[in-house]
Amino acid sequence: MTSPRDVVVVGAGVGGLATAVRMAARGHRVTVLEAASTVGGKLGEHVDAGHRFDRGPSLFTMPELMEELDALVPQDVPGRPAPFAYRTLDRSTHYFWEDEEEPLVAWTDSARFAKDVEARWGVPAKRLTRHLETSRAAFELTRGVFLERSLHEGSTYRTSAAWRLLSRVWTLPLLGSLHSHNKLHLKHPKLTQFFNRYATYNGSDPHRAPAMMHVIPHLEHGIGTFLPEGGMRSIPLHLEKLGRALGVTFLTDTPAARILHAEGRVTGVEDAQGQVHHADWVVSNADLHPTYRRLLPDLKAPERILNQERSTSGVIFYWGVKGTHPELSLHNILFSKDYRAEFNRIQHEGTPGEDPTVYINITSKELPQDAPEGHENWFVLMNVEANPEMWDDDAVAVLREQVLAKIERTLGARPDIVCEQVLKPQTIESLTGSWRGALYGASSNSAAAAFLRHRNRSTDLEGLYFCGGSVHPGGGIPLCLLGARIVDKLAHP
Ligand SMILES: Cc1cc2nc3c(=O)[nH]c(=O)nc-3n(C[C@H](O)[C@H](O)[C@H](O)COP(=O)(O)OP(=O)(O)OC[C@H]3O[C@@H](n4cnc5c(N)ncnc54)[C@H](O)[C@@H]3O)c2cc1C
Repeated sequence: MTSPRDVVVVGAGVGGLATAVRMAARGHRVTVLEAASTVGGKLGEHVDAGHRFDRGPSLFTMPELMEELDALVPQDVPGRPAPFAYRTLDRSTHYFWEDEEEPLVAWTDSARFAKDVEARWGVPAKRLTRHLETSRAAFELTRGVFLERSLHEGSTYRTSAAWRLLSRVWTLPLLGSLHSHNKLHLKHPKLTQFFNRYATYNGSDPHRAPAMMHVIPHLEHGIGTFLPEGGMRSIPLHLEKLGRALGVTFLTDTPAARILHAEGRVTGVEDAQGQVHHADWVVSNADLHPTYRRLLPDLKAPERILNQERSTSGVIFYWGVKGTHPELSLHNILFSKDYRAEFNRIQHEGTPGEDPTVYINITSKELPQDAPEGHENWFVLMNVEANPEMWDDDAVAVLREQVLAKIERTLGARPDIVCEQVLKPQTIESLTGSWRGALYGASSNSAAAAFLRHRNRSTDLEGLYFCGGSVHPGGGIPLCLLGARIVDKLAHP
C-alpha cells in the first residue's frame, strides 16, 4: 500500500481523466487542472441548428477499458454513475469506391465479411480470414509488452508476456511497410487499400508505417466496433463523474503554467493565476511539446523525441444536412483512386489534393436525437499534414470544393448543407494544446517512432509522470486509457 499522496493531473483529456480516476481509487488526493472550460480535450462537442456533433474521435473500440474504470468505484459510493453504456455494432464502416456500384460493408462478423469480399472480388474467403487471424495473433502476442506496460522499464522484459513474445517473435510481421505486407498477403489492390487505411488510425502513412501496424485491424474485426450511448462525448463526461464520486477536484479554466520542482523531485504545479497546487506526484496529460517547452522550461528536453514527425492532422467539416442518405451508415469512407499519391501529397504539400479520401461519420444514423427530423449530422474528415500555418480560409475553401466534388462523383449528389462549422490544425492546437494540431502525437511512420514514444515516468524528476496520446503507448482512446493504467502501475509497483 502507498500512503495517500497529493496528485496533480495537468489536462483533462481521456488519458488524464482515466489517470485521475485510477489515482483517486487508490486513495490519493487528486486535483485535475484543465485549461479549457470543460473536460474531454479532443473529445469535445458542439450543437449547431439542432445537430449535435462529437468534435473529435468517432470510432470506439475496447470498451472493456471503460468497464475496468467503472469497476474501480465501489457500488456504495455516493454519486457513482450507472455503468458506462454503449452498444455493439454489426459493422464497422461502409467503404465506397468511385467505380463500384455498391459500398463494401465491413461486417464485424469476419466470416460474413470474407464471404462478401469473395463474392464481390473473387478473393478467396480463406485468404482474408487468414489475414485477420494473423492480425489477432500479432495483437495478442504483443499487447502485454507494447500496449500494457512501459517499454522503458527493465521489469517489462522479465514478464511472462515478454518471454512469450521473444519465443514467437519470428511469427510477427517485422519486415517492410504495412502496405507491402497487405499487398503481399491480400493480392488485391482494393483490399490492400482497405487494410492500409488502418495506419490512419494512429495518423500514419501505410506506405511508410511498419508492417506491425497489422495489429490494428484486430481491434475492429476481432474485438468489435461499439458506440457509446449519447455519443463519444459521454466518454469524458462519464470519467468525470467517476472522478467526482471518488473525490477528485476538477479545476476547469485553470491552465497550468509551471511544474515546480526542487532537489530532483516535483513539488507542485503553479497555475496561470499564480496559485500553487502542492503535489507529491504530477501527471502531465498535456502534449509532450508544451509540457517540456512551457511547463518545464528549466529541464533538459528530449529533443530527438520532440522532433519526431507528427501524426497527420485533419480538416473537419461539421455539416447539418437536409435529407437522409440510406446508402450511408454511421461510419463511411469514400476512397481516393490512388492512395499512395494521396499520402505523398499530404507529406509534401500538406493536403490530399484533387481526389481526397473522405471519412463521413453520421451519429444520427444510430442516435436519431443527434439531428432534427429529416436531417443528418455529417462529420466530414480529411487527413492533412499537421501544419497550422497552411490552413487559411482560401485553403479550406479549395479543400471544401474538392470534398464536395468527391462526394458527388462517388454518391451521385452533393449534400444539402444547412449549417457548417470547420475544425483545422490551428483550431485543434488552440483548443487542446496538441502540438501543430496533430491528432495522435508523433506519427508511426518508422519503426523507431512507432515503438519508442516518450516514457511514462520521468527519469529526471521523481514523481513526474506522463500520459495521453503524445507518449507511450500512443494516441487513440484505447491507447490513452491503457497509458493511464501504465502510469498507475508505475506509481504503485
Ligand atoms: C478530429 C479527431 C478525430 C479523431 N478520431 C479518433 C477516433 O476515431 N478514435 C480514437 O480512438 N481516437 C481518435 N482521435 C484521437 C484521440 O482523440 C486522442 O488520441 C485522444 O483523445 C487524446 O487524449 P489525451 O489524453 O492525449 O488528451 P487530449 O484530448 O489531447 O487533451 C489534453 C488536455 O490537456 C489540456 N491542457 C493542455 N495544456 C494544459 C495546461 N498547460 N494546463 C491545463 N490543461 C492543459 C487541454 O486543454 C486538453 O483538454 C481523434 C482526434 C481528433 C482531433
